[in-house]
Amino acid sequence: MKLGYEMVIGLETHVELHTRSKIFCSCLNAFGAEPNTYVCPVCMGLPGALPVFNEQVLRYAAMAGMALNCHVHHRSRFDRKNYFYPDLPKAYQISQFYRPLCENGFLIVQTSGGEKRIGITRIHMEEDAGKLLHDEKNGTALDMNRCGVPLIEIVSEPDIRSAEEAVCYLRKLRAILTYTGVSDCKMNEGSLRCDVNLSIHKPGEPFGTRTEMKNLNSFQSVEKAIEAEFERQVAAVEAGETVVQETRRFDQKSGKTTSMRRKENSADYRYFPDPDLPEIYLTDEDMTALREKIPPLPDERRERYMKEYSVSAYAAELLTAERWLADYFERGAAKAESPVALANLILGEVFAQLTARDTQHTGERDESSLPISPEHLAKLSDLMNSGKVNSSTGKKILGALFQEDCDPERYAQEHELFTVSDDRVLNAAVEKVLAANPDMVVSYKAGKLTVEKALMGKAMAETKGKADPERLRRLLLDSIARL
Ligand code: ADP
Ligand code: MG
Ligand code: ZN
Repeated sequence: MKLGYEMVIGLETHVELHTRSKIFCSCLNAFGAEPNTYVCPVCMGLPGALPVFNEQVLRYAAMAGMALNCHVHHRSRFDRKNYFYPDLPKAYQISQFYRPLCENGFLIVQTSGGEKRIGITRIHMEEDAGKLLHDEKNGTALDMNRCGVPLIEIVSEPDIRSAEEAVCYLRKLRAILTYTGVSDCKMNEGSLRCDVNLSIHKPGEPFGTRTEMKNLNSFQSVEKAIEAEFERQVAAVEAGETVVQETRRFDQKSGKTTSMRRKENSADYRYFPDPDLPEIYLTDEDMTALREKIPPLPDERRERYMKEYSVSAYAAELLTAERWLADYFERGAAKAESPVALANLILGEVFAQLTARDTQHTGERDESSLPISPEHLAKLSDLMNSGKVNSSTGKKILGALFQEDCDPERYAQEHELFTVSDDRVLNAAVEKVLAANPDMVVSYKAGKLTVEKALMGKAMAETKGKADPERLRRLLLDSIARL
């Protein structure tokens, strides 16, 4: 809220479905191949080529709709959306307009302000366009591998009221869709892309005119684009200007949005039913069979973790946000003495080291980012939780496991990393440090208690970082008191 204005946001999210082949031809649906190697007359839009619908797209789209609490229609149909752009060789996109597959769904998010329900207006199926490759020297080239990749577009109700809620919505959407197995939802590879519609108003007044920011490809840019556009609209309205309906581009570097083009109306697309494709029909039996394929979803697992492992609601939400991570945690928790300690280790130090290792700053993680077996991590968690290795040594062992996975107990043995709690060894370290730093002892005695930390650091270093910190601290304070 700024100067009494509230932001109103609706998201349009495009998700590439994880099918083997494309939506209307038998070309492979693959990411990262040599340009224009997975193409044929149908997806290149050559005259006379006819589309044949891939039924797996229908199954996945219907499952996505069911997982998102939508009404999935028995009958739906494809329409042509006509527009000209170089990445669209047919000059129309096969989409759904008059009769989308799914309508009236919702999802629930946990935000810092509590639980919130966000409505889903509709989910429809469509084909992706190609990719333009801009090169300063050689001009613009077209890669048509992405033409005809199956998409679902998920349109939310304008229920979102903050950048935080928008990001929570996207995270939850990604969790639900990856659990359902219909997409890998990788924002950095473009398999989940988001358009943000944003307007401002004063609560109680009608909604304002919205602008649309297209193709945001990270959670961070969604958040930044929302904040920048909200500021801009508030400033404009306060200056007596009107907000015009248009498409805007968010520039990551400047952190500002700029006008791209005035928004087309749906009339400009001249939608009409695609005569090349028959109506789509799902029987009651189809619906039942698809519903049975949907695995337990993140909310259900979240509740179970709270009951079964006593982890907090917040930790459980984070652990279930990605299916690979939830599976990983469950395998580890089955072995760990304290699942809560394992959860803390994963969400704390493991995440910190994953972020540090993410040199491309994509923020994307999957099972390959965590090359440590859950059994080994559970063992490390137990060693740390019982104090057999202290937390800083535990972090070092974790770093070593990232380099080469092995049994952390054996590793600690071979490298002599177990916690030192032998009073003779600890006292020797303390005496040595106190003798070497008489001035520090003097200032501690004169009331400068912060010196304790420096002395602790030195004593800890004497034990090569392996001391039981509580015990070392007690011995240190006792020795100073005796001086
Ligand atoms: P279009 O085809 O014009 O993009 P859609 O119906 O596909 O329209 O999507 C409109 C999106 O804009 C939806 O997500 C909807 O929630 C959102 N929206 C509609 N009105 C407003 C508004 N006043 N402020 C913010 N978002 C809005
Ligand atoms: Mg739209
Ligand atoms: Zn093809």
